[in-house]
Amino acid sequence: MVRAEGVRKHFGRLEVLKGIDLTVERGQVCCLLGPSGSGKSTFLRCINHLERIDGGRLCVDGEPVGHRRHGDRLHELREREVAERRRDIGMVFQRFNLFPHMTALENITEAPVRVGGTSRADAREQALLLLEEVGLRDRAHHYPAQLSGGQQQRVAIARALAMRPKVMLFDEPTSALDPELVGDVLDVMRRLAADGMTMVVVTHEIGFAREVGDTAVFMDEGVVVEAGDPARVLAEPEQERTRAFLSKVL
Ligand code: ADP
Ligand code: MG
Repeated sequence: MVRAEGVRKHFGRLEVLKGIDLTVERGQVCCLLGPSGSGKSTFLRCINHLERIDGGRLCVDGEPVGHRRHGDRLHELREREVAERRRDIGMVFQRFNLFPHMTALENITEAPVRVGGTSRADAREQALLLLEEVGLRDRAHHYPAQLSGGQQQRVAIARALAMRPKVMLFDEPTSALDPELVGDVLDVMRRLAADGMTMVVVTHEIGFAREVGDTAVFMDEGVVVEAGDPARVLAEPEQERTRAFLSKVL
């Protein structure tokens, strides 16, 4: 579903991704760990067309990000085509980024109605089911300010799911939450994984990575230091840099 080969990205002189290789199979959960500044968010943003890569190859569901195949040549996508591709990718950020002037329900129906061409009635029905799934059916008409951080994040997940994405990207979805609210959000993600969603999750929740992740990838300074079975990478890392990092977050 996601394949990166030698992906490079720099901002001016700063090399942020120095040749990332990573594969996420359909239905798998890849947990991405690493110190602040190692390039994790930038990598997710590349997958989601928010940054353009400077080298290497990056494909989502077999299609090169930002390009369209034409014979054996690649054509750059037009803005409208990028928007279409991005609908297949759901993203959840550390800060929940809900529209503050819309209720939970309206936040979820906005994209399907406006860009997905779904009727308002169908979008509403679908949104109520999604709210049910994230345990917030009774909060449908609440505004973000009336919800806890954990509830807002669950609405944000429901909103991303409303476009029926092929892959979900999570960028430290629980890092901004009070500790007692983390569990409910992780539970929703755990269920999503069990339902077969392909997920790339940047997280420092080692327990989640170990339990839910099919692979764990440890990144540092723009390179993949170590990757593999979470039980091994997180319990018996081979690399000193991985060990040093884990001893800090555990
Ligand atoms: P992480 O998510 O692992 O903490 P990031 O991908 O956010 O790391 O950042 C990696 C590096 O890239 C950092 O040094 C950050 O300051 C830099 N960076 C990220 N985005 C930009 C940008 N738009 N312009 C310049 N530098 C950036
Ligand atoms: Mg980040």
